[in-house]
Order: sequence, then structure tokens, then C-alpha cells
Amino acid sequence: MSEQQYYENQAFWSEARYQVEREQRRFAACAGLLPPEAATLLDVGAGNGAFLRYLEDQDSPLQLLGLERARTAIEMKVCRADIRAGSADELPFGDRSFDVVAALEVIEHLPFGVYERALRELERVAARYILISVPYRENRQPVICPYCGCAFNPYYHMRRFDDDMLSRLFQQFQPVNRVAVPVPEYVIMPLVRRLRLLLRGNPYPASAICPQCGYARSQDEPQPPAQSRNPPGLARFIPLYERPNWMVVLYRRSQ
Ligand SMILES: [Zn+2]
Repeated sequence: MSEQQYYENQAFWSEARYQVEREQRRFAACAGLLPPEAATLLDVGAGNGAFLRYLEDQDSPLQLLGLERARTAIEMKVCRADIRAGSADELPFGDRSFDVVAALEVIEHLPFGVYERALRELERVAARYILISVPYRENRQPVICPYCGCAFNPYYHMRRFDDDMLSRLFQQFQPVNRVAVPVPEYVIMPLVRRLRLLLRGNPYPASAICPQCGYARSQDEPQPPAQSRNPPGLARFIPLYERPNWMVVLYRRSQ
């Protein structure tokens, strides 16, 4: 239940959350891989429709439809295209209904059973292409629930994707194109993160919900000021590098 409740958090679906550079870069990478001959696209796990909205803003000729399980996300929809209620593991569409079926930042979240069924459903409903984006070679650190001591991934990321995993995701589809989406980061950040983890542990994010006991930091608890992802002040003396944060992969039907 907490797994489902997690995605009903309004904070996830605000328009502003997707108007940041890193998300727009990810959308541009996804749009850039779309095959020009495609006419229809289903976005599975469309959330508030931020990617559909991106395509609409680009005057994409694609006929667009979204599917989303979280009611809150649909209520906060930001696109013109329709977003239907439904779950990735039981797509309410016939076989090969869409030229492209996209699932962007979705499959890392799917729990045991749902994940396996959802991959088969994407294959069933996609006529020609599947577009996937996932966190790439993510360093997943669990948090400890302060209430019951259960350790879990605070973002409900159930698995880690590397090249091998991405190459054998589907049975009837093969990868034909891919692009890494980098996020600029100071070179010392991996070390800073490791030290922070060692000294303070992994902080329990405001959005986290313990899957064992349901503990969540209350909404009215004073929130610490948003932490910069990069160290302040010293910034201009430290070189930046582009860390591949996401991988976007286009798959084509092979059978
Ligand atoms: Zn707990």
C-alpha cells in the first residue's frame, strides 16, 4: 500500500519540478530518439504529462496518449493530451496499438511481479518501437526508517540498470539507438557524497514512506533549506564533469 501511496505525493507532480534544466535535457534526449516515421505514441507512467507537454511544445506531429496509475498526477496534468488511469502491468489497449510505447523513469520503480508483467505488456502494445529512460548505473543507497529500522530505497528504485541489463530487457525488441543524458557535476562530488554518507548516513527524504511501517516525515515538519547539489563558494575553482545520469534507449521490434 505504501508503494502506491508514495506516488500520490503532490510534490512529485508540480509543473515546476519538470521545468528545470536537467529534466528538459532528458526530455530533449527522449524526443531526439523518436523515429520520424512514427505516428502514435503511448506514454506509460506519464505522471503529470510533462513529457507529452514537452512534445506538444515542440509541435510534435505524433498523436499522443498517456497512461498513469497515480490519481494525483492525472489531476495535476500539464499537457493537452489525454491521460488515462491504468497500470503498466495491465495496459488497457489491444496488441500493437501504438507505433511507439514510451516508459520514462518508470520501470526502475516497478515492484516484483509488476515489473516482469509490465515489460511483456510494453512489448504487446508496441507495434514497432519502445522508448525507455532509466537512471544509469545508479549508486543506490538505502535509508533507515527512524521509526522501525527498516532499510529501503527512499525513491522506490527497485533495481539498477547497466548496459547488460538494458541490452536484454525485452524478448521481441532489440536496442537500436541510445543516448546518455549527463548532469554537470563538480569532480569532487562523488567523494563529498561518500564522506557525507560515512559521517551522517543517508538522510531520510521528506518524500520517503517506509514500506514496512508506513512512516513518513510529516508535511508540516520544518524542512531544512534545499541543499545545493554542488559545494558553494569553492565552485569556480573546481572543474566540472558530465556524469551520465540517465540512459535513454530506443528498441525496435525484431519479431
Ligand atoms: Zn518503518
